[in-house]
Amino acid sequence: MVRSILSLFSLLLAGNAQVPTHPVEITIFNFHGPHGQIYQELLNPELAYFGSPTSAQVLSNLIPQFVQTLPALPAVSTNEVRGPISLPVEQDAQPDHIIVHAEDELDTPHWSYSGPTGPDYWPKIYPECGGKSQSPINIQPYMTYQRPTNPIMAENYNRLYPAFIVKGKKNVDISFEGPKQMPWIAGGYIPYGESYQFAGLHMHWGSKNNVGSEHRVEGFEFPGEAHFVHFNRKYGNLTNAVDKPDGLLVLGFFLQLAEKSGPGISVIADGIRSLNESGNNEVDIGKLSIDAILGHIPLVEYFFYQGSLTTPPCSENVLWHVFSTPIQISQRDLDAFRNLKNEDGKSYSDNNRPVLPLNGREVLRNVLRRY
Ligand SMILES: [Zn+2]
Repeated sequence: MVRSILSLFSLLLAGNAQVPTHPVEITIFNFHGPHGQIYQELLNPELAYFGSPTSAQVLSNLIPQFVQTLPALPAVSTNEVRGPISLPVEQDAQPDHIIVHAEDELDTPHWSYSGPTGPDYWPKIYPECGGKSQSPINIQPYMTYQRPTNPIMAENYNRLYPAFIVKGKKNVDISFEGPKQMPWIAGGYIPYGESYQFAGLHMHWGSKNNVGSEHRVEGFEFPGEAHFVHFNRKYGNLTNAVDKPDGLLVLGFFLQLAEKSGPGISVIADGIRSLNESGNNEVDIGKLSIDAILGHIPLVEYFFYQGSLTTPPCSENVLWHVFSTPIQISQRDLDAFRNLKNEDGKSYSDNNRPVLPLNGREVLRNVLRRY
């Protein structure tokens, strides 16, 4: 199983007849979005502006053969910035060869959660982040529409799968593996005939107990939020689904401080501690089920609305389910997340996007309750 972070490699491409007339160095950011999308951008601003022609277009003008021979990226869902890949085109010494180098880390993150590359800056690079149906939102229960619906039907949520935690640049991903059919859901507000398969889970958390969740309820921010990412099964896999208008579904659960974590959260926190101690990028955490992570919260009381990914490129194709009952986490386990550092030695904490306006969208609730 290859799931290690893209490591330093070199690749020789032979026989390129259309190399540029001048030696040129191109750095490409290979991004893995939080929900599995893979996209690329050029670093060198002399060659292309961010957000203007895609790197593939620019590159295909420059070095057509490179585009087809880009090394395959590991199919994991992370917020990781992969790269840079630099392409020194050696015109004189080896006119027939392009040498590609890739490194794990970037000196400067392309986007971030604060400062000049923080959330206000995202729309400049990723126009969809400035759209009208963005996530997260502040949920005001008394402004939501009570609209009872069928129960959510969840398959294999109680099934155990081999689970892994993989460190990314801005978050860590927890994913299941194995030949067994993955968990999936249907029913509820999900359109009739559609079903969504579980692809992975990640958390957002703060550096202090009064911040960290992405969604808010009546302005209240929890210390964290867990996102169970699903893709529409008709597209076969996450990569195919990410750019489809009905491609994604996320179940969001707030994290709430408690005396003890649930069994699944304890397992994940132990994995996080082991990453802290070992300095490794990934850890095998044994077998885990979604139910164990949820602490057996029933999928009955939630808010529903149509929104977006909460990290660039902020695609507006997510059916959001934000549950009223939080997942329980102990202070010690939450602190384990806070102590985790990325490869730059930086904390992942405060990796939550601020709330965005509803812009007239309806937020539904499925349970009969007065607010
Ligand atoms: Zn998320």
